[in-house]
Amino acid sequence: MNQNIDIRISSNADSAANFVASEIANLLKENPSVTLGLATGGTPVEVYRRLVEINQRGDISFADCTTFNLDEYVGLEPDHDQSYRYFMQKNLFDYVDVNRDRTHVPDGVAVDLQAACSDYESRIKSAGGIDLQLLGIGMNGHIAFNEPGSDPNGRTSVVELTDNTIAANSRFFEKAEDVPRQAVTLGIGTIIEADRIILMATGSNKAEAVARALVSEPNLDSPASYLQTKKNVTFVLDAEAARLLPKSVIEASVLIT
Ligand code: PGA
Repeated sequence: MNQNIDIRISSNADSAANFVASEIANLLKENPSVTLGLATGGTPVEVYRRLVEINQRGDISFADCTTFNLDEYVGLEPDHDQSYRYFMQKNLFDYVDVNRDRTHVPDGVAVDLQAACSDYESRIKSAGGIDLQLLGIGMNGHIAFNEPGSDPNGRTSVVELTDNTIAANSRFFEKAEDVPRQAVTLGIGTIIEADRIILMATGSNKAEAVARALVSEPNLDSPASYLQTKKNVTFVLDAEAARLLPKSVIEASVLIT
C-alpha cells in the first residue's frame, strides 16, 4: 500500500464525524473562499450537522466558499426528496450562510447530459479545482458512483449503477424499483485531482471495501484503491470499518480520541 495515506481510526462513528467536521471547519477558517468537494449518503450526515452547529455559533462562515458535489441521480429533479441537490439543501445548505449560486450539484435532468458533464468539469476548473474533497465509500469499493471497473482516469460522465449499489440505496426509496439506474458522477480522474481528500467510512459493512482499498495494489475491482496513487489522502474510519485492516496498518495509523 501507499505509505502516504494517512489513516485515522476512532472508537466510534461520532468521533470520526467530529474529526472530519473539525478539518473542514479549520480549512474554512484558514481560507474562507475555499472550494469544497462534498458527498452525500448516510456517512457524512453527522459531519454536516456539526458544521451547521459551528456555523450557527458564528465560528465559521460558508459565505465565500464554493462547493461541488460528487454526483446526482439521472432523472431526479432537484426538488425530488431523493435527489442529491435536495439532500444537500436539507442537510447543510438550507441551514448555513452559503451562497446558493456557488453550490454545484451535477444536473441529472439536463436535456443534454453529456454537455452538462463537460460544463461541470469546466466549472471545477474555473473555480481553480477542488481544495478538499470529502468522500464516502460503497460496500463494493465505489467512490462517488464510480463502480468497480471504472476508468481510473475517467472524467465526469453518465454511468450505470450496479445492482448492489441500487440495493444499498433502496433503503432511502419506497421500493427498489424507484432507485434510478443511472447517475452523473465525477470521474476517478477528476476526484484524484483534488488537493486533499478525506475518505470517511463507518460501520462494519464497509470493512471489506476499506481493506481492499488500502491493502492491495490499485486495481479496477476497487475504485477507491486508486486513492493510493495520490498524496494528501486521509482515511477516517471508525473501529468497525477498520476491523479487517492488517495489524501493521492499524499500528501505523493514528487514533482519534
Ligand atoms: P453511505 O454511502 O454513506 O450511504 O454508506 C457511501 C457511498 O456509497 O459512497
